[in-house]
Amino acid sequence: MNGTGTGPETGTATGPRELVIVGASLAGLRAAETLRCEGFTGTLTIVGDEPHLPYDRPPLSKQVLTSRNDQPPGTELPLPDRLDARWRLGLPAVGLDPHARTVTLADGDRLAYDGLLIATGAAARGLPTGEVMPSEGVFTLRSWDDTLALRDRLNSRRRLVVIGAGFLGGEIAAAARARGLDVTLIEAGGQPLERAVGAVAGAYVAALHREAGIELLTGTTVTEFHTDAEGRLSGLTLSDGSRLDTDTVVLALGAVPATGWLAGSGIALDNGVHCDRYLRALHPDGSVVPAVVAAGDIARVPHPLAGGEPLALGHWTNAVEQAATAARNLLRPQRPEWFTGVPSFWSDLHGAKIRSVGLPSAADEAEVVEYDLPGRRLEIGYRRAGRLVGALTIGRTSRLAAYRLELQEPLETAPEYAS
Ligand SMILES: Cc1cc2nc3c(=O)[nH]c(=O)nc-3n(C[C@H](O)[C@H](O)[C@H](O)COP(=O)(O)OP(=O)(O)OC[C@H]3O[C@@H](n4cnc5c(N)ncnc54)[C@H](O)[C@@H]3O)c2cc1C
Repeated sequence: MNGTGTGPETGTATGPRELVIVGASLAGLRAAETLRCEGFTGTLTIVGDEPHLPYDRPPLSKQVLTSRNDQPPGTELPLPDRLDARWRLGLPAVGLDPHARTVTLADGDRLAYDGLLIATGAAARGLPTGEVMPSEGVFTLRSWDDTLALRDRLNSRRRLVVIGAGFLGGEIAAAARARGLDVTLIEAGGQPLERAVGAVAGAYVAALHREAGIELLTGTTVTEFHTDAEGRLSGLTLSDGSRLDTDTVVLALGAVPATGWLAGSGIALDNGVHCDRYLRALHPDGSVVPAVVAAGDIARVPHPLAGGEPLALGHWTNAVEQAATAARNLLRPQRPEWFTGVPSFWSDLHGAKIRSVGLPSAADEAEVVEYDLPGRRLEIGYRRAGRLVGALTIGRTSRLAAYRLELQEPLETAPEYAS
């Protein structure tokens, strides 16, 4: 069996006429483009809770946050000429009835569909429940509006504390440092990014942060947020008992899939929308929800590189590639394609271009091919039970193509993971 193997039929034989996409961002737009490119001529409605047309998020924590101009660089995603979509922006979907095949919007409007693509992505994780949020001074970064709010704040501050040294926290810390702020980066784990890319790459990234003048505190958590008389943030107590005075903190604690509006729909929701390898949404018993697919950060899909475990990946390329497959499977439910994309990710930290393919987090062994901090070069291959599952490079991007080729083949020929 190969990646275009057939699976059970869903939807109608004549093809859908009314398609709805919920989530007007990267995956939603790419899915819409694919639908039109594949010849879909029916009604296409795109629902988004943000007031903006689709824009790109990766530049938010890089060029947009670093820029000091009055006009930050725009990150709009280009709209194709013949998209012919009905945009419902600034309005969240609040419910889904897969039996009646309707999506309910916050204004009470109901959109009937005969094919639905879920692309509501994820939201920034906030403080743990029960923690009292200061009235001012605590930021997260997921959207354009979040970024402008943080950028405004940094314009008038000398000091920033970032909690969480993952890719996003690292980029925010690097951007603030590049703007000349004193930055403290707090990480609960032993190294930044350790769970994602292992201890060696984590130590390399830690060195990059420290060389750039960032105060990196590892093995450290925040135990208390202090406020002034008006309830504004004034400082933090750390797990070693010390106190940090600051009035500005960014929480970079990861993302939570935006599944709230799907509660009660009967779709299996557990850290994302559970899908099969055709990106079709599933019921909790594993059966397919008719005419509903998902793509992007919201979709939790079984992954051969992780031993068939369902994963939601917060990666740009994954959103683009899943959107195309999910859109085609919505149009042609009787001949669905497997999703076989090789995960890939990039991040820019202090001028170092970090590039990764596959799933380094799924590895049980890391093979360090090159570790050159002054030369800004790093190459690591990641294996699980002896088989390649991922690779990471800095300053050696050309090496990734060979790793990618080796990773692609098992993804296309892993019949044991077909649902
Ligand atoms: C600051 C930042 C930097 C990043 N940098 C990188 C990078 O360097 N490299 C990389 O590979 N990836 C990066 N990513 C990740 C990448 O941007 C995401 O993987 C990608 O945006 C996922 O696209 P998506 O369409 O699935 O979800 P999203 O982009 O999250 O879009 C989902 C959309 O749905 C909307 N929505 C949510 N709920 C509802 C609802 N109920 N009704 C209607 N609309 C709703 C959301 O508001 C949002 O507009 C970054 C992400 C961020 C936030």
